[in-house]
Amino acid sequence: MKINVYFTFQVYDLKIKYKVDQILHSLIQDFVIPEADIIRDDVFVQYNFEIAYDTKLITTIVKNLNAIYEKANGNMTPTFREFRYEYTYTDDEMKNAELFRITSIGNRPELYHSSKSIVEFVPFCARCSRNEKVTKNNLIINTSVMKKFPIIFVDKYLVISQELANKFNEWNLSGYQLREVIHKGKTTGEKAFQVIPTNILPPQTVIDQLRNDPHIKQQTCPECGVVEYLQFPYCYDEKISQFMQDFNFTYEYYPINEETVVRQMLVSKKVITLLIEHGIAKLETLSDGSKWTVVPVLTNNTV
Ligand SMILES: [Zn+2]
Repeated sequence: MKINVYFTFQVYDLKIKYKVDQILHSLIQDFVIPEADIIRDDVFVQYNFEIAYDTKLITTIVKNLNAIYEKANGNMTPTFREFRYEYTYTDDEMKNAELFRITSIGNRPELYHSSKSIVEFVPFCARCSRNEKVTKNNLIINTSVMKKFPIIFVDKYLVISQELANKFNEWNLSGYQLREVIHKGKTTGEKAFQVIPTNILPPQTVIDQLRNDPHIKQQTCPECGVVEYLQFPYCYDEKISQFMQDFNFTYEYYPINEETVVRQMLVSKKVITLLIEHGIAKLETLSDGSKWTVVPVLTNNTV
């Protein structure tokens, strides 16, 4: 696995741009200076760049950009402080993973819906004032979309058609329950079900490379352990196969916005393999935007 650090921010003044470019050019090898868009007197410069993981270099970049930002009088965005870690997995890590997180089921808006049901929140942590999003209510959508698609995401929950629910049963998949989705709309509805994992995995382990990362420590709530912006790669020790089922929730909670946390769903290799074999999940790039993206879960013995 390779870790890259991704920065993004904007600058609206040419003098500030000059200072930023000088700093970044001196700190980052092969830094490509972005062009400024100038329309009449308005300046717009978009900075998007990646560096290889190096905690000291991150600290130096943020410190220097902060110094410029403090004197920029609003001509620069502070979003460089919200740098992200991006993990690139090797072919072996993809091949050997026993669990995956599904991050995309295709690049089509028809696959992603919002429920019309009332969302409930329960207090999660007094220290960072986050709430947990809970789903006690049935999701409500226009289910006629299931005529065309066997799987969709509704508010990031997996929703499947009756036909696929039957297949899940035939395939003996474990660790989930189905909750019917309520149809609302002028067209006739289809039977649809939300897939709710019933198995909660044990706590994850942290890969050695990131164990003492000062930036992750800084973004971690000392009370509940939720990390803002920076996420660890999913990693378990090798015993995980004893505890996993086909559908699982992480023990850990993840922020989906500043106030809300959820547990994330991880599915087994069996689920992904069967969905691929039946032409439902497509991991290769096709022109119709049907490519899925899955993130492999690491185990101690594969890192
Ligand atoms: Zn907290």
